[in-house]
Amino acid sequence: MRRCLVAGNWKMHGSGAMITGLLQRLVQELGAEKNGAEVVVCAPAPYLPLCQNMLQHSELQLGAQNVHAQAAGAYTGEVAAAMLVEFGVRFVIVGHSERRRDAGETDEQVALKCAAALSSGISPIVCVGETLEEREAGNANSVVARQVGAVLRHCGPAALRKAVFAYEPVWAIGTGRTASPAQAQAMHSFIRSLLHDSGPDLAAGARIIYGGSVSADNARELFAQNDIDGGLVGGASLKPEEFITICKSVSKQWKP
Ligand code: PEP
Repeated sequence: MRRCLVAGNWKMHGSGAMITGLLQRLVQELGAEKNGAEVVVCAPAPYLPLCQNMLQHSELQLGAQNVHAQAAGAYTGEVAAAMLVEFGVRFVIVGHSERRRDAGETDEQVALKCAAALSSGISPIVCVGETLEEREAGNANSVVARQVGAVLRHCGPAALRKAVFAYEPVWAIGTGRTASPAQAQAMHSFIRSLLHDSGPDLAAGARIIYGGSVSADNARELFAQNDIDGGLVGGASLKPEEFITICKSVSKQWKP
């Protein structure tokens, strides 16, 4: 059984005042929701202490947006997994397409970050997904297989117990162009088939969420698909009412 998960990726948005207001609203509406989807907010690093403080008596989970692969060292500007743990971080986004594009993160580096998070007890939300060119060239499956394969090679089946995969077609991120429920379901089912070699039970229990222009209008249909276990939400996670609606759009909180 898999519990559905909805994670908000605030990216490089917000201020102390804005986040305080947003979290007050989310805690009020979703904070005691033990039976719904697991809800995570992935905050910019400087606001983690504020978020930790505001979420301490709620069911909402705290996530970060990046982690370094090494445990410590001369890596100016980077943040280690153990540091995130000190601020109550339970999830971390790794391999977001914006970091693959802007910071040149490779599949191998993403897999090492994933391993670092796991070894500190943090669940990585591993983003995978193809560009429009790759889809149009008929390479969507092979690109995603390569990205997932790197994580499995470095982290082993243990990754499947704690990691969450986020299928985020690059062409759908921040564009308002969502993958159709059928397109997304097909890729999620393909990703689950890739996990099968590590063990059928592990594959059946792995959470695979969808990201890419999820909104209050399309969340319900996306989340109703058999292999879509929730969503990674960018822009809409900054709008309290819309994010609350998205979180409440999971049709079944648990999937078989
Ligand atoms: C994201 O940043 O992971 C994302 C899916 O963004 P958006 O929802 O804005 O497309």
